[in-house]
Amino acid sequence: MSKSKHVRVVVRTRPTAELADDLIKFTPDRKAIHVHIPKSVEGGYINNQQEDWDFRFDNLLHNASQEAVYDECVNAIMKGLLDGYNGTIMAYGQTGAGKTFTMTGASENYKHRGLIPRSISQVFREIADRPQLSYTARISYIEIYNEQMVDLLGAIPEGVKGDNGLNVVEDQNGTAQVKGLTVRVANTEEEALSYLFEGETTRSIAEHQLNRNSSRSHCIFTIWLESRSRVESSEKVLYSKLNLVDLAGSERLSKTQTTGVSLREAMYINKSLTFLEQVIIALADKKRGHIPYRQSKLTNVLRDALGGNCSTLMIANVRCERSYIEETISTLRFATRMMCVTNIPELNVQYDPVALIKKYEREIRELKQELSM
Ligand code: ADP
Ligand code: MG
Repeated sequence: MSKSKHVRVVVRTRPTAELADDLIKFTPDRKAIHVHIPKSVEGGYINNQQEDWDFRFDNLLHNASQEAVYDECVNAIMKGLLDGYNGTIMAYGQTGAGKTFTMTGASENYKHRGLIPRSISQVFREIADRPQLSYTARISYIEIYNEQMVDLLGAIPEGVKGDNGLNVVEDQNGTAQVKGLTVRVANTEEEALSYLFEGETTRSIAEHQLNRNSSRSHCIFTIWLESRSRVESSEKVLYSKLNLVDLAGSERLSKTQTTGVSLREAMYINKSLTFLEQVIIALADKKRGHIPYRQSKLTNVLRDALGGNCSTLMIANVRCERSYIEETISTLRFATRMMCVTNIPELNVQYDPVALIKKYEREIRELKQELSM
């Protein structure tokens, strides 16, 4: 029987020399955060009321190294991935809070590698540790900008219209697939890393050519695994995927911050994460009526991870300086909602028809032999 699991939520703070420790307090067990907003905060907190907020999460990583974040966030999901279970890890928070640092990391310093390169390394280490199984690893990388999907391992898009041949379709199990997306086989860690860099390059070229602001797009890097036993009767095939998601900045943009962009763009900048929030609110409401996945590309592509067949973890990236207190509260409130979402991770197993027929033929031969004895 498959068991339902809550989305795990881990808060990561961006290190700062200006920690507003009169406003933000962490409890000794490092799981609860208390935020206090006095009547007037410099920078002009609009609501002139004192406010106190108490939050509790699965964990809180304050001044944590990339390695510590990896250990906390990926280990359990990685084990599941190798065993045929889906996983999703997404970074949420305002621009500048450390989402890209967390997911991709800083390439100039090996110690600062993020969750994506570290996950790639571990996948290939684990595969090498399981010689009895034959694995195929594949990589895809997609960007969603203004409800438009870009295949980061495909050709650089020429214009801003359309989805460059990509299309979200549902299979018979209700699982969303992006049709037309490039999915490349990676035989080694180096090859998988080269796809990450290729995708990053495509993204920055598209950013300049199409005059985009990458903090407003969502990126989904996916490691797909397929495995079968090397020993006999290998008709059983396990499938799984790990989505590593760097979400668009969650800050609410004011009119002045959206000048210079088209009306359509300005409309979507704020909307896309609102749609994600609407899905989460609908899922948190246990009555589970209609879940509006189809309202946006992001929720449609990630529907397995949101109330579906997946182990999901969200990293809420926050800043602890005085001037960001409102955005921090908004991120922590969103993260709290996310904790109410439950998923049901299931083993993804399929039977290879050719291998199955061979197995049946063998069994029939054996039966005939027995009968003739
Ligand atoms: P986001 O993707 O959320 O907009 P970034 O990951 O780009 O934010 O982070 C903004 C800046 O802060 C970058 O220069 C990044 O290197 C730095 N930074 C973020 N988090 C950390 C951290 N935990 N340790 C050191 N530097 C960090
Ligand atoms: Mg970023």
